[in-house]
Amino acid sequence: MRVKSHKVEGLSYLAAAYVGAVITPTIVILHDTAGRLDKGNSATYLASKNSGQVSVHFVIERDGTITQLVPLNRRANHAGVSTFNGRSGCNDFAIGIEIVNPGKMSWSGARIAQAWWGQTFDAATFDVRDAETPQHGKGAWMAYTPEQIAAVTELLQCLFADVPTLKDITTHWYVSPGRKVDTNPLFPLDQVRAAVLGHDDPAELAAEAQSAPAPVQGLEVQIETNGDTLNLRRWPSFNPNVIAAIPDAAIVPVLRTGIFDGREWHQVLYGGQHGWIVASYAAPIVKS
Ligand SMILES: [Zn+2]
Repeated sequence: MRVKSHKVEGLSYLAAAYVGAVITPTIVILHDTAGRLDKGNSATYLASKNSGQVSVHFVIERDGTITQLVPLNRRANHAGVSTFNGRSGCNDFAIGIEIVNPGKMSWSGARIAQAWWGQTFDAATFDVRDAETPQHGKGAWMAYTPEQIAAVTELLQCLFADVPTLKDITTHWYVSPGRKVDTNPLFPLDQVRAAVLGHDDPAELAAEAQSAPAPVQGLEVQIETNGDTLNLRRWPSFNPNVIAAIPDAAIVPVLRTGIFDGREWHQVLYGGQHGWIVASYAAPIVKS
């Protein structure tokens, strides 16, 4: 199964050395090549015997050119040990997209960044910036080109139109936490997901469907964390989905309540956004 190529500009085909069994893809996992920027370098490698069992469905070059290497309904080996929303072995149900990018770099001079294989890049020319997240750690990262962002967005829109089983878009760092850091922290994941999926996050919608409105109209709770902050999460799980840290003793309104994985969670409003907190760290305010 190929992407309907007339819809995607600059798409060509090259067969990967490894193509696995038939799969029903439900998610797309975005990656970085963590390799050289030269056009065709990663795609040619994946098509060669040197790549062994490693493969991926698509590679997106710096200029936005896309190469498809594996049919959409066949397994490719891009995610390794991985879990998405409780289901492990993501290669069995994911389409993989590799975006050409050097991955995590270090500074080897004031404005010179060095990639893991030793090549250096002028920070201004290649738009290399410092960034740090809990999932990526601290590093120097190369911004994706506007052509790459446009290409990945257009490709995802075509995939979601062509493959009715697809439900969500995620990243390698998300499905392999602590082991992988791609895509890098400069990737505009929320922007791309919103452009393809709309503004309703499927995980948030699922949580709303499995919960009930607050039992008491106007219910408020006070955060009780002994001086620590409490994580506000996009949906009720301990995945890397923290959107804010609520200070101890803050009082927040409860919108919904539900039991997830045997634990009670509240959907609350804090700092202008709604999200989920573990209910055991919040005490209901008793109004007299
Ligand atoms: Zn990866």
